[in-house]
Order: sequence, then C-alpha cells, then structure tokens
Amino acid sequence: MERTLSIIKPDAVAKGVIGKILDRFESNGLKIAATRKMQLSRADAEAFYAVHSERSFFGDLVDFMISGPVVVSVLEGENAIAKNRQLMGATNPKEAEAGTIRADFAENIDANAVHGSDSAENAAVEIAFFFSGREIA
Ligand code: ATP
Ligand code: MG
Repeated sequence: MERTLSIIKPDAVAKGVIGKILDRFESNGLKIAATRKMQLSRADAEAFYAVHSERSFFGDLVDFMISGPVVVSVLEGENAIAKNRQLMGATNPKEAEAGTIRADFAENIDANAVHGSDSAENAAVEIAFFFSGREIA
C-alpha cells in the first residue's frame, strides 16, 4: 500500500472537471484518503515547487498555480505513485498517451491539469506539506 499527493491544477478546476478527474482515480483502484479545495498563496506555490526554483519557467509556474483554486488529494493504493503518474500522462499534454488525464483535459505544458508526486520520498514530503495525519483516513 502506497500514498501519493495529487493536485488538480487551476485550469482543470476552472473547467469544472474536478469530479471527472477524481473518478479516474477511483475507477482505477486509487482511494481518496484525503481531499480539499483551496487557494494556494504565492509562498505556498514557491515552497511546493522549490525544486524548480532555478528553472526558467519557475515564475510562470508559480503564477499559474495561484491563478485560481486547486484541489489537493492524498491517493492511496498499490503502486499509487506510479499508477497516478500513468493515469496523468506526460507533462506536455501533446505527448500524453490517449485516454490519460492530461490528454483529455490539459491544454499545454503550463496548464497541464494535474500534479502527481514523482517518488516515495517526494510523496511523503508533499503529503505532509498539505495534510496532518488526522486528516488522512
Ligand atoms: P508536476 O510536477 O506538475 O506533476 P511533472 O512532474 O510532469 O509535473 P515537472 O518536471 O515536475 O513535471 O515540472 C513541474 C511543472 O512545471 C510541470 O507540470 C509544468 O507545468 C511545468 N514545466 C515543466 N517543464 C516545463 C517546460 N519545459 N516549460 C514550461 N513549463 C514546464
Ligand atoms: Mg513533478
């Protein structure tokens, strides 16, 4: 059993596809152990994406992540980290496999609908960033 952090990004929330995306998780064996809609502050987004702080796209990424509310969730299941990444599809939606969340709901590499933790180590850090132990069940 594994846990991973998912974020439904502002573009997908604005499109009204929160339910459709959460259904992809539940229909593919991932349980929603915690979930919350929230508005990230600039400080939240900068801290969350700190690994990318030196990249050219960091400023645009932070601006985008605070452009509207997001939905943060803890997904739980067997191989949850890899399974979520598989359901999400490639970072650039133009390269995402048909039937993936990004192929179906994302516009471009900046507004790409979802985030998912990329390793067990990052999943633990990212889950703790958003949720206390008693919020996860
Ligand atoms: P995420 O971390 O959001 O789940 P990812 O793990 O697929 O996406 P990362 O390499 O971690 O991709 O990049 C984080 C985010 O930064 C991407 O989701 C994307 O929005 C943005 N990004 C990544 N690479 C580029 C790029 N070359 N140009 C513009 N934006 C980019
Ligand atoms: Mg990433």
